[in-house]
Amino acid sequence: MSSNPVAAEAAPQAAPGSAPDHRRLGRELELFGTDPLIGSGLPYWLPDGAAIRHTLEEFIRGRERRAGYQHVYSPVLGKRELYEISGHWQHYRDDMFPPMDLGAEQVVLRPSLCPHHALIYRSRARSHRELPLRIAELGGMYRSELSGVLGGLTRVRAIQLNDAHVFCTPEQAADEAVAALELIGEAHRVLGIRPVRHRLSLPGAGGKYVADPALWERATALLTEVLRRSGVPFEAAEGEAAFYGPKIDIQIADAAGRESTLSTVQIDFHQPERFGLRYTGPDGAKHRPVMVHRSVIGSVERVVAHLIELYRGAFPAWLAPTQLVLLPLSEGERERAEQVRGRCLDRGLRVEVAGPERGSLGARIREARLVPYQAVIGPREAADDLLALRLRDGRRPEPLPVAEALARIGALVDACAPELWDACEPVPGAERR
Ligand SMILES: [Zn+2]
Repeated sequence: MSSNPVAAEAAPQAAPGSAPDHRRLGRELELFGTDPLIGSGLPYWLPDGAAIRHTLEEFIRGRERRAGYQHVYSPVLGKRELYEISGHWQHYRDDMFPPMDLGAEQVVLRPSLCPHHALIYRSRARSHRELPLRIAELGGMYRSELSGVLGGLTRVRAIQLNDAHVFCTPEQAADEAVAALELIGEAHRVLGIRPVRHRLSLPGAGGKYVADPALWERATALLTEVLRRSGVPFEAAEGEAAFYGPKIDIQIADAAGRESTLSTVQIDFHQPERFGLRYTGPDGAKHRPVMVHRSVIGSVERVVAHLIELYRGAFPAWLAPTQLVLLPLSEGERERAEQVRGRCLDRGLRVEVAGPERGSLGARIREARLVPYQAVIGPREAADDLLALRLRDGRRPEPLPVAEALARIGALVDACAPELWDACEPVPGAERR
């Protein structure tokens, strides 16, 4: 794998000396927005932002499927009693929205997905042969943040979390947590994300944690073993645990050096107790499973905010909202450009035609400077069914038959490649850089 793909290209539109800010870039690139009538901390996603988000969601689901996860959907609401059982009501209520009265019952916007997944596990009897059972969901959860701390995609009240819970035997827990850390590392590498540290988050003073010293000790010992086996350096931090157990937090930093947690791995003995979870062991007796909570890319909001600042709009081709822009030289080549557009769409590529009505060729090329691939279609390309590509970094590969050019772009996109072109191929024009 190449190193940081950003390093290979100039950051195209960042003002010199200014730190990238995903809120400003999100507006300029038309990725997301907010409206006072919807409310602060409740961003909406515009088509280009939605394209990035959809691609990321499919990427992570694909990786999870390969790693043996099964995906579910569960509702974003639950009865108040559910959170009394999980302990959220006692330990996490300040961060929850107030309950809604529905006649005789109260329902709450969920503050996490764990309780729903515990109930899915409990929906029928489980045998040790089914374990580890890995249940994943990219689902909504809600946090009643104060409006003063909201802004952009990093502090939101509606969160789409890439979440999963592995229900396993106590003997399997460490292996599952190690595997989750590996999955996280692999996803970060593909996305170009470089975490600043791994943190072992322990409880601190105060009453917000569930009291059961033996379970805390056991979970902390297991997570420490997991970190040692994974060979990653880590720091312990008190006061950062979840209310029900310690966790491994994988920290990222923004351009200003502000740290936040992106990915997490937790080993939890508490919620299986609270929900009375069981499996039948090889001995025919009932046993308590362990829950490994893990998030690979954290919330979709936070990871997209990070990627916007990391790439400053010049996303790798597989993530780019528009992957290829077709530039007919004149109206004479418009029909040809539309035909090529259809072939791109058939290949699953995100493509646009920018015709002469959008200005001179130079102006259209400048406007498309963040698009990974540009193709000028003149009379020769139209007549010979060729695509003369210009890469975002300024390189110009030899004109190729359209089918071949699209196959090569498609292969790089399918592979989530950080590079724009096959590095082994000589690219004429590269010396222009
Ligand atoms: Zn959980």
